[in-house]
Amino acid sequence: MSKIEEKLFQDRYRVDADRPHIQIKDAEICARCRNQQCTVCCPAGCYSREADGSVALATDGCLECGTCRIICDEHRNVAWEWPRGGFGILFKFG
Ligand code: SF4
Ligand code: SF4
Repeated sequence: MSKIEEKLFQDRYRVDADRPHIQIKDAEICARCRNQQCTVCCPAGCYSREADGSVALATDGCLECGTCRIICDEHRNVAWEWPRGGFGILFKFG
């Protein structure tokens, strides 16, 4: 049985540097968010808790699963769109 990291390695991702398809609306809200559940629920590890208590988002490698916009149910602090055509995740190689 392959590990998740091995499976993810089989995907490819085309970064849209000018237009991230997911953005945190208000960083202050994330800093006050009690559970910061996005940092543990994203299967691609796009959200990370920083040492100062803030949350960083890097959409490289996003699987477009939609979990983060559902899991941020209390604050609704995630602006989520599909990537533009030609960008984003490409399933799967290997
Ligand atoms: S769950 Fe929402 S409000 Fe909380 S840290 Fe994540 S994106 Fe921010
Ligand atoms: S859509 Fe899924 S993979 Fe992409 S950032 Fe949100 S939780 Fe992570």
